Amino acid sequence: MSRLLFLVAIAALVYLLLKSYRRPPRKHHTPEVTEDMVRCAQCGVHLPKGESLLAGGKYYCSEAHRRAHGTAD
Ligand SMILES: [Zn+2]
Repeated sequence: MSRLLFLVAIAALVYLLLKSYRRPPRKHHTPEVTEDMVRCAQCGVHLPKGESLLAGGKYYCSEAHRRAHGTAD
């Protein structure tokens, strides 16, 4: 009887190991991580596109630099 329990325990252990081994694959696109980097037209600093300001077809790191560059909306 204890032998059967032992086998069940082993099976459960193997199952858990396989389950933890088979982690879900990474997503192809993670926009936050693989996001394009853009360059501030004013100071030249690189920053993620999502954090930049777009004005007149150019990217800026901040509102101040957008103004400083003299690009009107
Ligand atoms: Zn800047």
